Amino acid sequence: TSMDIGWIGLGNMGGPMTANLVAAGHRVIGFDLSEAAKAAAADNGVVVVDSVAAAVAGADIVFTMLPAGGHARQVILGEGGVLASAASTTLVVDSSTIDIATARELHAGAAAAGFAFLDAPVSGGVSGAAAGTLTFMIGGEDAVLDRARPVIEVLAGRIFHCGGPGSGQAAKITNNMMLGITLQATCEGAVLAERLGLDSKVFQQLAAVSSGDSWALRTWYPVEGVVETAAVNRDFEGGFSAALLRKDLGLALQAGEETGTDLSFAQAVADRLETIDAHGWSGKDCSVLVKLVDR
Ligand code: NAD
Repeated sequence: TSMDIGWIGLGNMGGPMTANLVAAGHRVIGFDLSEAAKAAAADNGVVVVDSVAAAVAGADIVFTMLPAGGHARQVILGEGGVLASAASTTLVVDSSTIDIATARELHAGAAAAGFAFLDAPVSGGVSGAAAGTLTFMIGGEDAVLDRARPVIEVLAGRIFHCGGPGSGQAAKITNNMMLGITLQATCEGAVLAERLGLDSKVFQQLAAVSSGDSWALRTWYPVEGVVETAAVNRDFEGGFSAALLRKDLGLALQAGEETGTDLSFAQAVADRLETIDAHGWSGKDCSVLVKLVDR
């Protein structure tokens, strides 16, 4: 059945996600601060409006897909925001990647105003958003997820219910922290193997079936001509930006401080991403980290 879906944040992810919801027969009413994002969404059949309030009035479900915690707090809890403007029967889902503390604040604010809420960050990137194969990591109540499921299924390849408030963000942040560390390990291994005179193709294949294996090794091996999906083959254009990995590691480090957890490897990778930023490479794929090993 067709639903009225309010959507705030029509950027790199929100754009293709809303296009898929329109294609699935839903009515999507969208808002973004960026005129370019609004124009692109309108081309995809989104009904574009001029405020958060207009996007969420009368909606069955509202999604936010915003850069960071501060934006989500303002759009959901702020004056003229989602909770102030929607009917309390509206289901509210934040799919932005944000810090766990803010995610819990959003859950508490929603509950206090009588709204059902989920934290529902995603992985799979812009290509997964376009293909409708994102992995959703959900924090919140079972019954609320069941209500959101028919809409999320349009966008998702897999849906994991991770636990209570903030659990979706906790899972997302922890996973991406491990990605950052295994990517750095793969960069160091790739350069060392090459300098030791090994054939990179042979080494990558043997490591992929040995104890040095990781998703980063299999998908992003940072030597040209070894793995087709690696951004090194395209001068690190596109892919998963160093800026986004840096953001996600920052969220993990914040969670590490809050829980008293020693995350010294994550810190080391975050420090390297600062250097990447200083080189002006933040917009490049994060496997550009290999350049700091292979100077
Ligand atoms: P983006 O910057 O392309 O899009 C965010 C949009 O939010 C922008 O269009 C911006 O104008 C809009 N916005 C900001 N403040 C607003 C406000 N107050 N009201 C209305 N609109 C506002 O970012 P993205 O790549 O689409 O990522 C969105 C979220 O998804 C981030 O939290 C990111 O970490 C996460 N994420 C991104 C990827 C990816 O590969 N791009 C993958 C997984 C998760």
